[in-house]
Amino acid sequence: MAWKYKEDEREYQKKWYAEHKEEKKVYDKNNRTEAVKEKIRAQHKERNILRKAQAFDLLGDKCAICGFDDERALEVDHINGGGYKERLKIKSVGIYRKIIIGEVDNYQLLCSNCNSIKGTS
Ligand SMILES: [Zn+2]
Repeated sequence: MAWKYKEDEREYQKKWYAEHKEEKKVYDKNNRTEAVKEKIRAQHKERNILRKAQAFDLLGDKCAICGFDDERALEVDHINGGGYKERLKIKSVGIYRKIIIGEVDNYQLLCSNCNSIKGTS
């Protein structure tokens, strides 16, 4: 089925999934081969890399304190604390998703040094 609006398609999929959740779980358990599982894992990994890049971009791509910009050492900081609990609950990718949908005020990028110093002071 071709959809005119992506949101309509997504809404339909959500509704369908809610109505067929258990059937879908059983179907997937019985039909997903290791190759399919691997393909899904690769897609998720790629999507998460993109989300991280988008989130970092929205947060300025550099440390909010010192300006360091090597993304290998940049971390999302919860400005008002609570990062540990949130990370346990929704993982990093959930935090990236929140940033992408517009919840940027609670987060900033810090380099590992600045984040560590902030955490101990
Ligand atoms: Zn820094």
